[in-house]
Amino acid sequence: MTRPTLEAVRRSVDAGVATLLDAVLAEAERSDVAVHLVGGPVRDLLLGRPLRDIDLIVEPRDGSVVGADALARAAAPPDARVVSHDRFGTVRLATADASIDLATVRSESYARPGALPSVAPGSLDDDLRRRDFTVNALALPLSAAARRGRAGLIDPGTGRADLADAVLRVFHARCFHDDPTRALRAARLAARLSFRLARSARSALRDAIGEGAFAAVSGDRLRREVERLFEDARLGLDPAVALRLLADWHVLRALEPGLALPPAALPPLRRLGRAIAEPPIAGLRARPWVVGLALWLADLDATSRRRTLRRLAIRGEIATRIAEFPKLRDRALRQLAATRGRGAVDALLAPLGDEALLALYVSAPPAGRRRMLRWAAEDRGKRPPVTGADLVAAGLSGPAVGVALSRIRIAWLDGALHTREEALALAREVGARVARRTKQRAARAGSAGAHDGPKRARKAARSSLPAPEASSILPPSSPPPNRALHPERQ
Ligand code: ATP
Repeated sequence: MTRPTLEAVRRSVDAGVATLLDAVLAEAERSDVAVHLVGGPVRDLLLGRPLRDIDLIVEPRDGSVVGADALARAAAPPDARVVSHDRFGTVRLATADASIDLATVRSESYARPGALPSVAPGSLDDDLRRRDFTVNALALPLSAAARRGRAGLIDPGTGRADLADAVLRVFHARCFHDDPTRALRAARLAARLSFRLARSARSALRDAIGEGAFAAVSGDRLRREVERLFEDARLGLDPAVALRLLADWHVLRALEPGLALPPAALPPLRRLGRAIAEPPIAGLRARPWVVGLALWLADLDATSRRRTLRRLAIRGEIATRIAEFPKLRDRALRQLAATRGRGAVDALLAPLGDEALLALYVSAPPAGRRRMLRWAAEDRGKRPPVTGADLVAAGLSGPAVGVALSRIRIAWLDGALHTREEALALAREVGARVARRTKQRAARAGSAGAHDGPKRARKAARSSLPAPEASSILPPSSPPPNRALHPERQ
């Protein structure tokens, strides 16, 4: 195990973070305040793992008002800002490229199981014992006042021994009753560190589940933990490992009856871990949790999928996209296998948003993935010789512009047209055909006396156009493919 020293901490962080840390410690020495490194960074330092962030804890001296907030403000270098999070002095000291978090020691109590804790001033011991696992309840005194009268690491539980044994142990048997989201934290941490849950913690969790503790937790809190679980994919971790633990511990069905980890979700989730850490398609902006949930829930029945999304308080457009991913996936994978020609592959893939694209990629069989990679490398960023503005200047309008653009792109990627003139000629042809069909349909609709004639006529005109091959997920009137690549960012 790495020897925990201030020097070891400095060596493990970026220069910007080290500068902020030095500023805080210099101020702590000046005002004789006790400052400790606490929680995750101490754990990771001992394990010899990279430190992801710096969490400091401040012990005000008796009668002193110097807590985390006052210390951070006094220490802040000119280019840093202090953001206070709550009245108990949880603050972030940040520059443009670095930040550290500080908190004043506190105690917590739970008015009712599953509720957010009530926070009150407390001692260092209270603060460490309120934490989820003994391996997170370690403090390393950094300032002289913190070291005074103490020898080395502060470990009120069995944190050091549990780190050596690779065990997550809780402080008391009601730990998961108080806060069932700790079960999701346990799975995330166990998967990340390759730790196991101590037998006593398993039994505490079983009791909490048995007593229905999960019912009291809000969807927002559960979703935040699920988001963090998938965020670990950024470390190259397979999110299915944490989900498998949650399934084994019977947490999934405590979250929502019918929620499981279907075996079919395992390979795509494993590939997601790798794809987030080393993106196979350059420039994709994807939230791991959105893609992860789409993959995880895709092979559940539609009712369980919808109920799980509701339980996690996921609503609106994201919920719809996740709920409908299986349909998109099945159709797109079928078409990807059957499609011939670069233009048709592009027409299939270009309209997808980044997250759908990534979810599809990790769900595809090897041949499909190869096609997607080839498309991404060779065709995705290409711009055909005309733009929508060129087509409008050439006299096209309305849906004809989108239809012509996608026809031009397909023909151009297939090598069937090369020049701007050829593209404009095709555009004029498409424009004329759309106009002719629109007129015919309008006349027919008018003679039928339908009051929604123009709408029907437009629809008819579109449907009478020769559809670009294999592009049925490209709505006929959708914007040109390049713009539709990032629908959520428009
Ligand atoms: P990461 O390495 O992912 O940042 P972390 O261990 O630093 O993980 P945070 O979520 O940043 O975890 O939380 C900081 C500390 O606060 C943790 O080490 C843990 O001790 C404590 N903590 C966070 N959430 C809870 C909770 N629900 N119950 C008890 N303690 C918690």
